[in-house]
Amino acid sequence: MGTSPSTRTDVIVIGGGIGGLSAALALTRRGLRVRVYEQAPAFGEVGAGLQLAPNCTRILDHYGLLKEATALGVLPETMVMKDAVDAGELTRLDLRDVERRYGHPYLVIHRSDLHGILLRACDRAGVELLTDAHCTRYENIDGAARVRFADGGADEAEVVIAADGLHSVARELLVGDEPVNSAYVAYRGAVPFEKVTGNDIHEKDVVVYVGPRCHFVQYPLRGGETFNQVAVFESPKALAGEDDWGTPDELDAAFAGTCDQVQKGLPLMWRDRWWRMYDRDPITTWVTGRIALLGDAAHPPLQYMAQGAIMAIEDGWVLGEHVAAQRAQRTEDGSGVDWDRVLAAYEAVRPEHCRRVVTTARAWGELWHLEGVRRLQRNALLRDRGVHDYAFVDWIFGPTALTPEDEPDMFRPIPLDSAPL
Ligand SMILES: Cc1cc2nc3c(=O)[nH]c(=O)nc-3n(C[C@H](O)[C@H](O)[C@H](O)COP(=O)(O)OP(=O)(O)OC[C@H]3O[C@@H](n4cnc5c(N)ncnc54)[C@H](O)[C@@H]3O)c2cc1C
Repeated sequence: MGTSPSTRTDVIVIGGGIGGLSAALALTRRGLRVRVYEQAPAFGEVGAGLQLAPNCTRILDHYGLLKEATALGVLPETMVMKDAVDAGELTRLDLRDVERRYGHPYLVIHRSDLHGILLRACDRAGVELLTDAHCTRYENIDGAARVRFADGGADEAEVVIAADGLHSVARELLVGDEPVNSAYVAYRGAVPFEKVTGNDIHEKDVVVYVGPRCHFVQYPLRGGETFNQVAVFESPKALAGEDDWGTPDELDAAFAGTCDQVQKGLPLMWRDRWWRMYDRDPITTWVTGRIALLGDAAHPPLQYMAQGAIMAIEDGWVLGEHVAAQRAQRTEDGSGVDWDRVLAAYEAVRPEHCRRVVTTARAWGELWHLEGVRRLQRNALLRDRGVHDYAFVDWIFGPTALTPEDEPDMFRPIPLDSAPL
């Protein structure tokens, strides 16, 4: 079909990552025709594991995808935080109790498996999925929006969702900012489980070793067949303003003083690629006319709260719920969706939550990476936390808000389990 299709669609989504696909699914389930344009030659995801907290598994359940995700992933028993220098335990989350409290499990899954689940669900639902389509420009036109592509093509729809990631082109319509360089870099590595037997690992847990200017994460994937590790550290070369930063020599130096458990894991990291870590300062305006940002395009976080992909999935779910509400209100005149109201509702509720996640992730990073006496003070504080004290996650793991807290009647809310399909 290319980038100049002959038929008109209701919604265009730019970007076929986890955010774009889940938004496309949410809107198609509400009866809309959705077309996704992805710049890559094929849909796919690189990287290794993803942690999905109950605020995400609740939505996957609502889409009928949780069983498949659980079958492909792992439900870990505990999340344990340890000191990366002496391996002493600092605090833990009992994930079985988390499931009881929030009604849905904490799941870890390979990123490509989650992406595949969403892609297949989109395909089944009738989403048009197009590749090799690099969007270069977004424009508002009368009561609709238009996108233009690098190959000269163009398309338009009632609404365009820009799920085009950290370097979003659409974001330039709203703000002239740049990604913020944290000077931290992530190495990943997912290996067959046999490679870590004897490494003093927790087979059924998520473990985070927090160390001076670094941290190390481990958890099982794919029913326990695969073991996932993430090594994150501050790059001295980045701090010095050098271009060639985050290289493997820096990885080795950053973890030199860490405990045996981390040392045993390091040789298994992929050393031919690494992910420099950027976020952006939060913005509160995500919508201009009929163009709306979603996912990392709107709120790229540092990944310390493991909520980036989840926030993207929540964004799409919120849009879908408000489309359902607006359609229900307007069926009598048959005029379809009141997009101005849907987008206003989306913008009334999502940016504040995501602002809080982005800024809290920065603060968690500072806490995790403390050194010297402040590291010891942190350890004492974390050891004091009661295992069943959920004060710091209730606002994240609880149900996704559909209305602003201070104006609950502003937009008609629909409870998660009674939303019309
Ligand atoms: C090391 C690490 C660990 C993480 N761990 C977790 C975790 O445990 N849990 C969690 O929830 N999150 C985690 N995250 C964050 C999460 O990966 C991201 O927030 C999430 O993938 C964002 O999804 P997205 O679809 O918004 O953006 P992206 O994944 O960036 O997708 C954007 C898509 O748009 C396409 N695109 C871009 N520009 C254009 C264009 N102009 N035209 C057409 N297509 C375009 C891209 O090719 C891409 O497919 C982690 C991140 C990192 C770096």
